[in-house]
Amino acid sequence: MTSSPVVSAVGETTFDSLDPRTGEVVGSHPVHSEADVRAAVGRAEEAARWWRGLGFAGRRTRLLDWKKVLVNRLDEVAEVIAAETGKPLDDARLELVLAVDHLDWAAKHAERTLGRRKVASGMLGANQAATLRYAPLGVVGVIGPWNYPVFTPMGSISYALAAGNAVVFKPSELTPGVGAVLASTLRDAVPERDLVEVVTGFGETGAALCRAGVGKIAFTGSTGTGRRVMAACAETLTPVLIECGGKDALIVDASADLEAAADAAVWGGMANAGQTCVGVERVYVVESVADEFTAQVVAKARGLTAGTDFGPMTMASQSEIVRRHVADAVARGGRAVVGGQESIRGSVVEPVVLLDVPEDSSAVTEETFGPVIVVNRVPDAAEAVRRANATGYGLGASVFSKDGEQLAESLRCGMVSVNGVISFAGIPALPFGGVGDSGFGRIHGEDGLREFTRAQAVARQRFALPVPVTSFRRTAANMRTMVGLVKARHGR
Ligand code: NDP
Repeated sequence: MTSSPVVSAVGETTFDSLDPRTGEVVGSHPVHSEADVRAAVGRAEEAARWWRGLGFAGRRTRLLDWKKVLVNRLDEVAEVIAAETGKPLDDARLELVLAVDHLDWAAKHAERTLGRRKVASGMLGANQAATLRYAPLGVVGVIGPWNYPVFTPMGSISYALAAGNAVVFKPSELTPGVGAVLASTLRDAVPERDLVEVVTGFGETGAALCRAGVGKIAFTGSTGTGRRVMAACAETLTPVLIECGGKDALIVDASADLEAAADAAVWGGMANAGQTCVGVERVYVVESVADEFTAQVVAKARGLTAGTDFGPMTMASQSEIVRRHVADAVARGGRAVVGGQESIRGSVVEPVVLLDVPEDSSAVTEETFGPVIVVNRVPDAAEAVRRANATGYGLGASVFSKDGEQLAESLRCGMVSVNGVISFAGIPALPFGGVGDSGFGRIHGEDGLREFTRAQAVARQRFALPVPVTSFRRTAANMRTMVGLVKARHGR
């Protein structure tokens, strides 16, 4: 929590968002109460009816208009992201560029993926015309994290809107201004209704959204909060999409391009100060190439500086978790070959590379969420896969190998980059999400569009069957004919 609520003279409670680089106040936002959240959901329900009535074509045009506004206001939005997260402006721009590409894809693929289509009606339904469509849920509640405050929630917002829903968005308490500016860009493109209502505040505001009767909650954040969200939603049987943390591994096989693998390990582990759900937290390198690979990782990590190549910890308290993991790793015999405990100076954390860290230490088992990479040696790729899978998490992974796609199939996780890192996140057609403690459900791609819909099946009778088996008019002879047909079709 960055700041305490402040009650103004008129009784409205507000809180400040701060720039983690300077501690300066960036903006002041309302702490929305349960009643405020319910009112926002009510307004969104009305907007959703209007939005649904526009059909796929009307929504597509407007979402593509929104895309243009986002691109034209890219620097302004990037400034807000940088101010509230502390990340470099170019990282904020990159985040926006990725989000824009997803918005474009969702707008253009919604009709093809969700629109009514014919399906085969089968032998027993030969007299039926069968069609399937995916209908919007109404209002989707989106609860977002602070680390990618546009890219991550937009993975739900863009796809939910393209599917015909309106959204109530609760941004992290650290990034409320990003939520507000995002909604203002949509208002520029679609002034008729507020399709994305933003509610701000602390965890309690998010909890109120879970109880507000929305069609679905799309939550992105930590596994602990994900459990609380799911428990709250269980009370009203509100469906949930849960995108949580990870402990992603990067595997370096003997056949890897070592320069590319080292570059990916350092970018994947240190970009955004390591505060990336699909960031590289562990590296398993095959013994025969370990020395050369490690030397390259060390040289690259030493070339990075906190404050220039990445920002401070967005949430200052995260530094303590990073410190604890580094201390535990070193106390158990791990070696810090870049940085160490001294790298953690308040909210600024310089790069740390740890070697030969026991697999049961917290730096290997828990999400560190800092610019720290653990590099452990393994005899072969099979052992690397075994260790990569030895975690309750299962979000993403990277493999550098000539047999990358084959190794990918052995990994227990939702997404794999082969000879790259986090590449899947930039491909809109690929679904994004995890297994186990990393959550369930998918954003992005066709699965991401369907996630915000309900399938509706329609069977239209074209003519009456000569053998009426689903009527009290049926005879024993009718049933003999039916069973005979089934035996001929399925019994041989
Ligand atoms: P948190 O779990 O702390 O918070 C996530 C969101 O949930 C925030 O908006 C928060 O509000 C809200 N919230 C808190 N308590 C409740 C509650 N009881 N009911 C409903 N909502 C609540 O996560 P962080 O913001 O710290 O994000 C970091 C985590 O997110 C990491 O574990 C990271 O790995 C994960 N993440 C996962 C991604 C994925 O796609 N799988 C992508 C990006 C991040 P408030 O901030 O006001 O407390």
